[in-house]
Amino acid sequence: MEKDCIFCKIAAGEIPCAKVLENDKVLAFLDIAPVSLGHVLVITKEHYANLETVPEAELIEAIKAVKKIGQALKIGLNVAGYNIVENNDPVAGQVINHLHFHIIPRAVNDGLKVWPQGKYRDGEINDMAEVIKQAL
Ligand code: 5GP
Ligand code: ZN
Repeated sequence: MEKDCIFCKIAAGEIPCAKVLENDKVLAFLDIAPVSLGHVLVITKEHYANLETVPEAELIEAIKAVKKIGQALKIGLNVAGYNIVENNDPVAGQVINHLHFHIIPRAVNDGLKVWPQGKYRDGEINDMAEVIKQAL
């Protein structure tokens, strides 16, 4: 448990949440400030800052919960689809330093535009792929 971490406190039951799923590794609850109604957060019970630091066994449990909740949103709330978002590190918009996945319900013509897209210069896309491959 990380000092001053809101999600650790939620996992420990010290701060209440609208829980939708819990097992020994993972907890899922509604986001207090939803992008759309039914916006769910899936967290690991243990504190990990981001995707690189979470052990694979716990990551698997988290992504299994994401899948299950996505299905439940479609069945229970009749949502048309959803975005899975993991803001990884503060520069990417991560405000709470405890790994979490957002599941954001989407509706037809809901007007949510995720982000603009750019383009590569000639050859740049392959150079980029090479650099990433070398770092694996
Ligand atoms: P981040 O920007 O770190 O990816 O997202 C953090 C999310 O946690 C935000 O969408 C925010 O609304 C949500 N959040 C922050 N504090 C609380 C809280 O105390 N309870 C709940 N249920 N959600 C919270
Ligand atoms: Zn934490």
